[in-house]
Amino acid sequence: MTEYVLPAPVVQTEGVRELARDLVVIPNRRLQLVPNIGVIGGTHSVLVVETGMGPRNAETVLRFAMEYAQGRRLYLTTTHFHPEHAFGAQVFAGEATFLINKAQAQDLAAKGPGYLAMFRELGEPVARQLEGVELPTPGVVYDTAHDLDLGGRTVRLRATGRAHSRGDQVVTVPDAEVMFTGDLVEAGQFSIFPWFPPHDTDVSATRWITVMRRLAAARPQLVVPGHGDIGGPQLLADVGDYLQLLRDETWRRRDSAMSQETIVEEVSALMIERHPEWEGQEWIARGVGCLCAEHPA
Ligand SMILES: [Zn+2]
Repeated sequence: MTEYVLPAPVVQTEGVRELARDLVVIPNRRLQLVPNIGVIGGTHSVLVVETGMGPRNAETVLRFAMEYAQGRRLYLTTTHFHPEHAFGAQVFAGEATFLINKAQAQDLAAKGPGYLAMFRELGEPVARQLEGVELPTPGVVYDTAHDLDLGGRTVRLRATGRAHSRGDQVVTVPDAEVMFTGDLVEAGQFSIFPWFPPHDTDVSATRWITVMRRLAAARPQLVVPGHGDIGGPQLLADVGDYLQLLRDETWRRRDSAMSQETIVEEVSALMIERHPEWEGQEWIARGVGCLCAEHPA
């Protein structure tokens, strides 16, 4: 067991950043297990993207959103089912319509309880935020694509297919050229691979690479990552390049029947040398594990 205790993952609404007219982000302040949270307005409705982890964080987000909305109708969506993104949705019941893609709703139902148990083991500050979590049931479930009319502004909700999780979704605001990617993109850190065999092996590096190329081709001007600083389209290219290099370097060694342990060692060293400033170095090994399992031989 590790002695390291994660700091309290608390959402704070100070420093809210306006990205475009009637579109703001509650930034994660580079705190682990705090996501970037979007609030997107139209003439008659407002969409919130992500809840923060647990009911108390979600209450902070809901309070902010209600004040922001000034009586406009509220919607909530989440980019995927992971605890800091979706495990606060219960608080929005009765105040907002919770709308997600089908694969994500299935993830939430099938994997939610396991993730709740797993995250409670991450230390007391995280466990405290998870107190009282009830896994939510979405009010509206769409299949793979949904256009949400907020009044004078249409937001595109799109399931990407399996990548970081089985039920990833991206949220795009075309008139503002803003894309919310969830954990498909992180800024300033290595891609998070929730590769936890045998409990969870849904993450797919090969599909993730394909998804990143598709997202990059959409050329949004502003990219809101799951965690880390808001950036431009280069963020999409950076993640795509990283994943591709991770695949190539892992598979090249796998081709020569190198042990997974040695691959992890060599590829980790290489990736850290390439991105010395990135956090989350521990995720490289899980990425290698995922790619060894996806090796075509
Ligand atoms: Zn995630």
